[in-house]
Amino acid sequence: MAEACRRYGVDRDMPQIVAVTKRLGPEVIRPLLEAGHRLFGENKVQEAQDKWPELKAAFPDVRLHLIGPLQSNKARDAVALFDGIESLDREKIARRVAREMAEQARAPTLMVQVNTGEEPQKSGCLPTDLADFLDLCRAELGLNIAGLMCIPPVDDDPALHFALLKTLAERHGVPQVSMGMSADYPLAAALGADYVRIGTALFGARPTA
Ligand SMILES: *Cc1c(COP(=O)(O)O)cnc(C)c1O
Repeated sequence: MAEACRRYGVDRDMPQIVAVTKRLGPEVIRPLLEAGHRLFGENKVQEAQDKWPELKAAFPDVRLHLIGPLQSNKARDAVALFDGIESLDREKIARRVAREMAEQARAPTLMVQVNTGEEPQKSGCLPTDLADFLDLCRAELGLNIAGLMCIPPVDDDPALHFALLKTLAERHGVPQVSMGMSADYPLAAALGADYVRIGTALFGARPTA
């Protein structure tokens, strides 16, 4: 990441690395915890519930982000377990998360996922709906939106999507962006990512689902 920033002439602090541990067991995760890494990402609530309570008990300052889509019937469990939710993307979820945060007196870091490629099969708020959705989250639900997150379409140049996400964040006064995965995190760092989400480049290939 530092090398990419130098190459692009960007002088900045490096993004935080969300180590993505989906489909990986505790035996793979523990060495990274023991080495001192404290920020992790999982894409499924149920799977995270199966493996993280024990790891969090052993490493209480760990922070766990939900980076996959959230269903409203999982909002309670997600708010209880995760320290960050990167995938807020629609009214129903935002309302449930807000309610659970109040009931559980929990305040995970919240980010809105933006479907920058406007792909029908992908979750995320459409760029054209973002202003209204942020307005609902902030004004009506009183949520602090700390970041925007995107997953670019596989066949597109990710730079376009990273630049768009950064522009949207600036335009709407959202302080941080989560963008970049194993294939493109150096570029994301150079284009202003605050969080990069990295699985394969840290752990090697995952078992298939
Ligand atoms: C799996 C996943 C990642 C990490 O992907 P790698 O290519 O293995 O680095 C990042 N973000 C999300 C949302 C993911 O689901």
